[in-house]
Amino acid sequence: MREFRGIAASDGIALGPAFVYSFQEKQQYRRVCAAEETANELARMERALSVAHEQLQRIYEKASAEAGEGTAAIFLAHQEFLEDPSLLEEAQKLIRETCATAEAAVTEGFEYYAGQLEAMEDDYLRERAGDLRDVSRRVLQILTGTQDVDSLANLTQPVIVVARDLTPSDTAQMDKKMVRGFCTAAGGFTSHTAIIARILGIPAVVGAGESLLEITAGTQLIVDGRGGQVIAAPDETTAERFASLRRSHDEEQNRLKALATRPGQTRDGRRVQVVANIADASSAEAALDLGAEGVGLYRTEYLYLNRQSVPTEAEQYRDYNAVTNVLGDRPLLIRTLDIGGDKQLPYVDFGHELNPFLGWRAIRLCLDSPQLFEPQLRAILRASAERNVQIMFPMIATLAEVRRAKEVLKKVQRQLADEHVAFDAGTPIGIMVEIPSAALAADLIAPEVDFFSIGTNDLIQYTLACDRGNEKVAHLYDPLHPAILRLIKGVIDAAHRAGKWVGMCGEMAGDPEAIPLLLGLGLDEFSMNAPAIPAAKELIRSLTFEQAQQISIEALAKPSAEEIRGYLRSLGLANQRT
Ligand code: PEP
Ligand code: MG
Repeated sequence: MREFRGIAASDGIALGPAFVYSFQEKQQYRRVCAAEETANELARMERALSVAHEQLQRIYEKASAEAGEGTAAIFLAHQEFLEDPSLLEEAQKLIRETCATAEAAVTEGFEYYAGQLEAMEDDYLRERAGDLRDVSRRVLQILTGTQDVDSLANLTQPVIVVARDLTPSDTAQMDKKMVRGFCTAAGGFTSHTAIIARILGIPAVVGAGESLLEITAGTQLIVDGRGGQVIAAPDETTAERFASLRRSHDEEQNRLKALATRPGQTRDGRRVQVVANIADASSAEAALDLGAEGVGLYRTEYLYLNRQSVPTEAEQYRDYNAVTNVLGDRPLLIRTLDIGGDKQLPYVDFGHELNPFLGWRAIRLCLDSPQLFEPQLRAILRASAERNVQIMFPMIATLAEVRRAKEVLKKVQRQLADEHVAFDAGTPIGIMVEIPSAALAADLIAPEVDFFSIGTNDLIQYTLACDRGNEKVAHLYDPLHPAILRLIKGVIDAAHRAGKWVGMCGEMAGDPEAIPLLLGLGLDEFSMNAPAIPAAKELIRSLTFEQAQQISIEALAKPSAEEIRGYLRSLGLANQRT
């Protein structure tokens, strides 16, 4: 039995065998063989190529059913590489003439052609070099028996995923039904992996350190997403103890879920909206089941990941429409593309950035890229025709950006009107307040918008100058830091003075420790990962507004996050029942 300590990233307990996702790890293999082994190496290579071909066929079929022919076509192109006679000849020659192993022949032979493609003038051909390397990696992984890049999509049994870290593309293609838990060596509480785990309600521990990667495939694991620990090869008593904890956790979740459809309001009748953060259209229905009163953040960037070209206006319209059809009259707040930082797209050239989180991302990139921005705005507006759709711009730092974004929106509205395409001309427009400059200048921005939504995940990292995904500075990343609470209060007060409502869609909005305080500060809307909604609603319903106000006054008078947390915990509210 071995224990690993990390950051408690997503509540719940998971038990199951480890699936070690080793895609990013270095491959070790033998490079040369004896002369008498060459026939065997040729046969091994042939088998691996044919397995790769079959894998790609399955992936192609799945992708074309789920995401359409355009997206799936890339896998047919990958198959074509496997059938290319000159590529095969090159690899065979390396085995026959230099006694290369199958692994070395594929890696070096394919690399030779990738290098040639890269040297071409034509942009399209140059980009194919990356595809060819992808195919080469797939064949190598088959030969070495390590997990391949698609295996997260093709899991055949329930597992606990162990990885150094998971990129947005990794989690987007993961077969979520088969993943009981995550644990990663890197990452912080608001890193991408942690947020996805919470959206999906999958127990997770992140930032557990490099030693986590010593876990071998198939080892029985316990992931305790509340206590922040991972236990490998537990003894019988430990396994039994955690199995029983999991049963009580599930029972409590079911009890709360049964009450979740009641409205979000305090004991004395102050109404607040309790809504969901979603990352794809298919999760809207599950969010309603958990008591969501709408969607307060649709992270549209996931629509853009794991594909080779920008989703068309028609594809986006279909997607937004699918969500509004589920939500009916409930609000859908669509955030425009928030790409860049840790979310890269193969078809957008971000160039080399020293500090991607401070770089060309989100609204900055969109304002510079009408070909990306305008089709998305058109799709959102079209979806607003008969539904309760709202638009939100991310990463606003200045008033000028709000004005420019609104100009683009007006231009798109004029185009649609000229084309006699229906849309709601009164679609509410808001911004994410997630950069300290926007928070501090909220009074100046408020007259330009209909609402604010506070993005604490970024607001905390920018205010405290600590990377939200870096476990080494996770101790600094604290939502209860007095500076953060003052910024939040300032934003809420400025918005209310201008007659505008304020929501919060950062992770803090779903944190039972922070909810009474936020309620007392006057927050109007709480947008969170759907699994957090039942407990959040119960907590809100257990308090009067006056109690909450008193809590916020006391908390803001304290000088440090530790004292604020100590005070909030001393109230024992997170477990209070109606
Ligand atoms: C935030 O920054 O708080 C937020 C909700 O956006 P994201 O986590 O997608 O950056
Ligand atoms: Mg953000």
